[in-house]
Amino acid sequence: MFDPIAQSVTYQKLRLDAPVTVTVKRLDQIHPQISGNKFFKLKYNFQEAQQQGFKKVLTFGGAYSNHIAATAYAAHLFGFASVGMIRGEELKDKTLNPTLATAQQLGMQLHFVSREQYRQKDQPEYLAALKQHYPEHYLIPEGGTNTLAIQGCKEILAAEDRHNYDMICCAVGTGGTISGLIEASAAHQSVLGFSALKGDFLKSEVEQWTTKKNWKITDAYCCGGYAKTTPALLQFMHSFEAEHRIPLEQVYTAKMMYGLMDLIQQNYFPQGSRILVIHTGGLQGRHRDEYLS
Ligand SMILES: *Cc1c(COP(=O)(O)O)cnc(C)c1O
Repeated sequence: MFDPIAQSVTYQKLRLDAPVTVTVKRLDQIHPQISGNKFFKLKYNFQEAQQQGFKKVLTFGGAYSNHIAATAYAAHLFGFASVGMIRGEELKDKTLNPTLATAQQLGMQLHFVSREQYRQKDQPEYLAALKQHYPEHYLIPEGGTNTLAIQGCKEILAAEDRHNYDMICCAVGTGGTISGLIEASAAHQSVLGFSALKGDFLKSEVEQWTTKKNWKITDAYCCGGYAKTTPALLQFMHSFEAEHRIPLEQVYTAKMMYGLMDLIQQNYFPQGSRILVIHTGGLQGRHRDEYLS
């Protein structure tokens, strides 16, 4: 099995004029399709699917979803058939964007569902009906977050990461990745999540997965909500990329880095803090139209 842990991961220390140090763990470099956190989230799910004798997987995502891209690739790699339930019925008759075109090329069957139907994706009745309709498919939830995903995300943090840093930062979508990081963190560390979405519902999401208290999530840098951007965010992203030679994307990692740099400027972190930033990848989604604006 392809294992990202076995890949050598680069650590890049930022050159900053600040009383803290910031080191970026470049999970974006693991793989062009299943980069960042997504492979960690999928790995034990595919193992479980295999053990249960499934040959097909089914999951959900938006048209630019990194999770869809990663699932399509992982299914292809491990010899599974795959179905992607894609939000937005109107996309059915449109040219596929690069995310969906690649997923389809990798063998994923795409089903476009209305937003109304898509919203039911976590409801027990809908899932029961789906299971009946697709009895041979192993179901992976939207964003891939479940117990097995969190087990995988614990492996993002290496032993030396628990030693060498005081603070761990990551971008947050469904909360699966940060839950794994929290679970794997050492007692002297804290974990700070930058939400890509508006609202504090993520707190209770994460509380479902961990009882530890050494963490916090802020939505102060979500720039209006999921996949929304502001001119200031895009400008920050472009200048950060130019200065540090680290590619970001505007849905997750740019918002995280934007927030982190702002908090550093506000002296939010104690002097001398050693901050580890998890670059969760997602660069396949950079072709979004907004990126160019
Ligand atoms: C999916 C994703 C996240 C969010 O991960 P969750 O486990 O859903 O919180 C963060 N960054 C990138 C680049 C992602 O693709």
